[in-house]
Amino acid sequence: MEIIRNYIDGRSVEPRSGLYLDNVRPRDGTVYSRLPDSDASDVAEAVAAAKRAFPEWKAKKRQERAAILQKLANLIEGRLAQFAEAESEDQGKPKTLAERMDIPRAIENFRFFAGAILHQEEAAHQSTDSVFNYTLREPVGVAGLISPWNLPLYLLTWKLAPALATGNTVVAKPSELTPMTAYLLTQLLTEAGLPPGVCNIVFGTGARAGDALVAHPDVPLISFTGGTETASVIGQRAAPFYKKTSFELGGKNPGLIFADADLDAAVAASLRSAFLNQGEICLCTSRLLIEASIFDVFATRFVAGAKALKLGDPRQPDSFMGALVSQGHRSKVAGFVARAREQGLQILCGGEEVVLPGDLSKGFYYPPTVILAPDASPEIMQKEVFGPVVTLTPFRTYDEAIRLANQTPYGLATSIWTQNLNTAHRAARDIQAGQIWINTWMNRDLRVPFGGMKASGIGREGGRHSLEFYTEEKNVCIQI
Ligand code: NDP
Repeated sequence: MEIIRNYIDGRSVEPRSGLYLDNVRPRDGTVYSRLPDSDASDVAEAVAAAKRAFPEWKAKKRQERAAILQKLANLIEGRLAQFAEAESEDQGKPKTLAERMDIPRAIENFRFFAGAILHQEEAAHQSTDSVFNYTLREPVGVAGLISPWNLPLYLLTWKLAPALATGNTVVAKPSELTPMTAYLLTQLLTEAGLPPGVCNIVFGTGARAGDALVAHPDVPLISFTGGTETASVIGQRAAPFYKKTSFELGGKNPGLIFADADLDAAVAASLRSAFLNQGEICLCTSRLLIEASIFDVFATRFVAGAKALKLGDPRQPDSFMGALVSQGHRSKVAGFVARAREQGLQILCGGEEVVLPGDLSKGFYYPPTVILAPDASPEIMQKEVFGPVVTLTPFRTYDEAIRLANQTPYGLATSIWTQNLNTAHRAARDIQAGQIWINTWMNRDLRVPFGGMKASGIGREGGRHSLEFYTEEKNVCIQI
């Protein structure tokens, strides 16, 4: 059985307490590796190493930092198959999805920010003929990075790459549910040329290791992707230290299907947006709002499409969906559906846990589930399920569509389907969400601002937004 170890000061080390947690494989429910149950003493050791490494890393030429990150990207690319298999085994997602999406994106994250720092420009402002200002950007120090389990390496590297590129040193805490690809990454850091202490990865629970990182006085910056409730705890823990924080949180994302939409494209993309990665993507559509005149035809085609999606062994290339990440998460998803049923909502398909044959019988499978919801009031229309569950709701007017779309605490992403340019632009303006997609979904350009409104987050990641977050600005004013 693989024993995962922390990576501190360039070395693979045991947790000081000697305590480990079981790591469960979602596809068959077996414990297949163990990870450190790190505590505040491990975090303190990692932060001390990162603090020692900071002056030298910060002083490196940006070309040198970029070259190291490019090399790291190449090393991951050389082991793409190994990383993809590990991500699938650890998370439950289909291996083909990890091969096509998760690992290529992790590689791209490093390449993108390695390039971005070489093309960065800083501002200068001339006040009068004899007074001008220029702006310096400096890394913040030891960055604390906390990432979730749904896109483990993809989202960890989305933070690691800009933090390291801009000259910070790092202590990262991946989700305890999906440590494996972060562990594989630790095996490449020295070979890529990262000096000891620059990138430290500490494994363990949020309550112990995560909290110790957030509350450590020598960590001036916390970048967090995860649940809205966790963010509230982290915000309170970080506030007394005036830490810089970035929160990328949950969503209850609507898809708006207007009657003039290209129905084939809208149905196909909505199936993907509801069920890709078992619905475990913060950007997944979980509420489809459909213009009443096409509701029946859309619903019939969508439900038929959902039933046809192959749920199966994540190792098989034709599986569109694999297992949910954990038994606990599957129970949470099933609980939402059970309560919707108790409230009298009609389940159009799915809604029962799936038991696959043979050695997969103890895996955490849950089918694509479609629920009819009359309005925005039921719990299933308000709370994030983060699984393969989507509601269908008809709307009669544009105003009703917008009201329904905005009637949740969240504001992360929206997908709008219409052939009418006016409707598209109007809805883009009226909907409260950080990402608006028109006739597409999860179409990502790493330069654009990424993040959520309302309970979906604070701050933006991507391109210059990440470069700004991981640096402090200093204005210098000169009188000649
Ligand atoms: P959690 O909030 O439970 O956990 C996220 C990370 O925070 C994990 O590493 C977790 O550790 C850690 N953590 C938990 N409690 C604390 C704490 N008190 N102090 C410090 N760290 C802590 O989210 P999930 O992992 O369940 O991820 C799912 C959520 O993430 C969903 O709400 C989803 O929408 C959101 N998300 C948002 C994205 C975005 O970009 N907006 C993208 C992807 C997901 P551990 O797991 O070890 O307990």
